Amino acid sequence: MHFHTRRRFLHTTVGSLLCSVLPEWGSVLHAQKRSVARYDLLVKGGHVIDPSQSLTAKRDVGIVGHRIARVAENIPETESRQVLDAGGMIVTPGLIDTHTHVYDGVAPLGIPADPNCIAKGVTTAVDAGSSGAHTFPGFRKYVIEVVETRVKVLLNISVVGQSTLSQDTPFGELLNIGYANPQLAIRTIEQNRDVILGIKVRLSRNIAGKTDMEALDLSKQAANAVELPVMVHIGDTHSPVDDILDKMDKGDILTHTYHGRTGGILDERDRVRPSVVDAVDRGVNLDVGHGAGSFAFGVAEKALRDGALPGTISSDLHQFNVHGPVFDLATTLSKFLYMGLTLEQVVRRATTNPAALFGFPDGLGTLAEGAEADVAVLSLQEGDFEFVDAMKKKRIGHRKLSPVATVKAGKIYRAATIPVPRAKK
Ligand SMILES: [Zn+2]
Repeated sequence: MHFHTRRRFLHTTVGSLLCSVLPEWGSVLHAQKRSVARYDLLVKGGHVIDPSQSLTAKRDVGIVGHRIARVAENIPETESRQVLDAGGMIVTPGLIDTHTHVYDGVAPLGIPADPNCIAKGVTTAVDAGSSGAHTFPGFRKYVIEVVETRVKVLLNISVVGQSTLSQDTPFGELLNIGYANPQLAIRTIEQNRDVILGIKVRLSRNIAGKTDMEALDLSKQAANAVELPVMVHIGDTHSPVDDILDKMDKGDILTHTYHGRTGGILDERDRVRPSVVDAVDRGVNLDVGHGAGSFAFGVAEKALRDGALPGTISSDLHQFNVHGPVFDLATTLSKFLYMGLTLEQVVRRATTNPAALFGFPDGLGTLAEGAEADVAVLSLQEGDFEFVDAMKKKRIGHRKLSPVATVKAGKIYRAATIPVPRAKK
């Protein structure tokens, strides 16, 4: 199936996601016929995990308009116009995916945001470098302001963003270092601070060639000027990872932390490199960015053993991993459950931690009263589940988180799996 036009895409996907107009949602959602209602929506009976309030308990969440109004033990259904039955489910703040690619139609790896984010519990998706200064205006106009998912941006230091590299054209966006333009990045950020959260730079050999350190310097120059972080993509870089980390400051983000290619975070004895420990000590955030080639169980298991836990767990969801091995953020979270993190720890890394990292002003990543009413309803299934990493290595886990429903700004979206057309090979 192809979504020929944006309008058609919106009708076929968003239209079907908006459960409030769908009668078949009736089993879990029902309207209260009361003239006086204190709440517009009540998320009822779920097990709430909200690390921002150290809360893990059965709670009801009352919503008024687009704000969380009350989180309490037993809010009567009669007090709400609509009730979302979350009995037996996990209820968390709307998930924040720190690394995605949703510039559908322009970046060859881009995928539609809504079927892959808001339909999967992710209310806020950070697009990591799909757009650069030249292509950002189109991203804002044709994607960010149109989709239901709240999309934030890490602006690629290359003006062309990730529009050059594809399966057919092996030419990364920084092979010509002249495309890195800090002045234009600064201007674009200053005009779009409501959306842009920082700079993205990809340093792999096939993207930045031998000028990776120069690309990083130019990224830091732009980021320092606007006082925002840089997200640095590693994996098979020309320069050693120690040199790259040495340039990174508090608040900067290392992504693809647990990749299994050359230039990784483990030394020859398979211990976490001292440069990584130093970076974490001074406040560099380790991000997962699973992706199609950037997450190896073998690396992650050893790094976790040494205490190098991620600060944020993200999917790096894009065209070449959405059909597996990534699928969605909940699956990546489940892989960290398999590796021994607690439910509270994985939820924290997709809610509280990214919210703090980016300093979201509207109260995202929390169910605190007064915060934006973003909620994820997830099931936690038990059984035998096969998880595959980016190196095709398999593990069998016994718990799996799956999205059931999402609330963004007080509006309900049901979980859905909508086909994303495969890229032609
Ligand atoms: Zn990426």
